[in-house]
Amino acid sequence: MPELPEVENVGRALWGNLQGQTLERLHVNFAGVLGQSVRATRKAIVGRELTAVHRHGKYLILTFGREETAAHLMVHLRMTGQIFILDDYEPDKHVHLTFEFPDSPPVHYRDIRKFGRLTLVDDAIAPSAIAHVGPDMMKVRFNDWHRRLAHRQAPIKSLLLDQGIAAGLGNIYVDESLFLAGVHPLTRPCDLAEEVLRDVLKRGKDVMRLAIRHGGTTFLNFTNFYGKPGNFKRKLRVYGRGGQPCRDCGATLEKIVIGGRSSVFCPECQPEI
Ligand SMILES: [Zn+2]
Repeated sequence: MPELPEVENVGRALWGNLQGQTLERLHVNFAGVLGQSVRATRKAIVGRELTAVHRHGKYLILTFGREETAAHLMVHLRMTGQIFILDDYEPDKHVHLTFEFPDSPPVHYRDIRKFGRLTLVDDAIAPSAIAHVGPDMMKVRFNDWHRRLAHRQAPIKSLLLDQGIAAGLGNIYVDESLFLAGVHPLTRPCDLAEEVLRDVLKRGKDVMRLAIRHGGTTFLNFTNFYGKPGNFKRKLRVYGRGGQPCRDCGATLEKIVIGGRSSVFCPECQPEI
């Protein structure tokens, strides 16, 4: 599942390749991935210039046109959504949308499970459609984050995944952050010192920054904008490594399920308190 670093890279690539270009055509093979009708979507964005790309958590918001007449298309890739640009690519049956710009190869939206959505929203920065989503994980300040989290009784693993507290962390980077901070995934935030929580947030931001630099992590069928896999996977310390030795201490990494999500941790480096 694409997480914040993968979405950030898609956004940067879209902006880098398409900024200032006018969307000439939108081909729709499966309208179910659109939040509005094909007609309404085309009317809002076709013939208009891409003027901005914003990311909030795992959402990308593409802005077409300017100021009060601007239209905003919010992209949520969910489980298996992909946006990519490839020369000589023959779209398969999973390509639901194709965007044509004058000075770029076609941009495809592909989604095997069709859970992703592209929805017209009312604002680029704070769309009302995602008012329930917390501040972006990369931008949230410690005091704000701490206030949202510190009184909660659930395991820290579940709370870091809670997009209402802060948006963008998913299973991969939560496991990595907790390992780097030396915190057991079942620990309750109320049992942790403020300085430890400060470290969890800092490690979370650090690991995502690093993943962004490496083009994200590739799992299942997620590939980045150019159809190439990200190469962060080989840098992962715990995620997907249950039963293997800890890269720091050699202990066998354990895998447990918390709130329906698998969690991998090192029993030595992340002791239970
Ligand atoms: Zn260890």
